[in-house]
Amino acid sequence: MGKRQPTTQELMRLDAIAKHLKIKSRYPADSFTAAVIDTCLDRIAPVVEKLLPCSGEQIALGLGEHLHLTFEEVRGPADVTDLLKRYLQGKKEIGFAQVPEQLTQPGVDALLFERMHAQEQDPDRWVAVLNLQDSDAKGYWNRFHELSHRIAEPPQGILPFKRHQIEASNPVETLMDAIAAEFGFYEPAFRPLVEQRAQRSRLTFSVVEYLRRQFAPTASLLSTMKAVVKFWPQPAAVLVSEFRGRVGAPHLDQALRVTPQGHNGAASNSGLKFIFNMRVPQGSPIDLAFQTGVEQNELERLGNWTTSQGKRLASLNVHTSARRIGKRVYSLISAGS
Ligand SMILES: [Zn+2]
Repeated sequence: MGKRQPTTQELMRLDAIAKHLKIKSRYPADSFTAAVIDTCLDRIAPVVEKLLPCSGEQIALGLGEHLHLTFEEVRGPADVTDLLKRYLQGKKEIGFAQVPEQLTQPGVDALLFERMHAQEQDPDRWVAVLNLQDSDAKGYWNRFHELSHRIAEPPQGILPFKRHQIEASNPVETLMDAIAAEFGFYEPAFRPLVEQRAQRSRLTFSVVEYLRRQFAPTASLLSTMKAVVKFWPQPAAVLVSEFRGRVGAPHLDQALRVTPQGHNGAASNSGLKFIFNMRVPQGSPIDLAFQTGVEQNELERLGNWTTSQGKRLASLNVHTSARRIGKRVYSLISAGS
């Protein structure tokens, strides 16, 4: 994926974020993202501390309350009609007139409004409209994404709303996703649950699903897998595999190949690392899950994993949990006791 140059407007927003959070680092310095995340976490910590121990859903609601931000979910035309009735007709917020048209455009995940006729203390001074018409899968993530805009950015003032589209190359949106990843599985709330589970069990899908039910039932499976791996006490990694060819030559050497999705610090230290697009060995648990559609929970030795350039993974004994979903195989790889 090629990176485009940020636009002037994006650079101005990034600069405004640095000033709003009072941080010295400026985009695109390496320290910028970390400084933004740390400062946002510092700001929300006192609010979330009062809620602990709590679930992720409770954190979203608690932060929304603190920031005077209400979430509205749109699943179909009846929800749009209801929104217009309450905000456009009821509260004379003319910005909402654009909701129907905006939500028909492709890739619009959410709209964030600052109401024009709200009092400072109104709980719906800000309204985040979440577009769940295609699926619920992104609802959890988008709550934290919108909260991140509210925490990191100065109140917009000029525009009645912003529109959010998944746009991987927009540095402001990428930054909001990085903040959302920290808030959605907030460490002081989520790590203790993961560690408790790790004492009793290997890393499997049933562990991930148990933790998802406990903490964030509306979160997607993949985002929960990544968060569990991050706090797993032993070396662990998440992979997604699919059938495809070489990088730059998609029709050559088609095979089941991996896209690493993240690993924890213990994995970096122990050499548990995968190489983008390397082939999954035939007969390995991931391959079996792909071929048979049956979930695999098996031990394997990573020394069998090689690349066409002759690279070989560290010869670690790992436990692999692999589940086929559609054309892909999701897997959890963990090493250690
Ligand atoms: Zn956004």
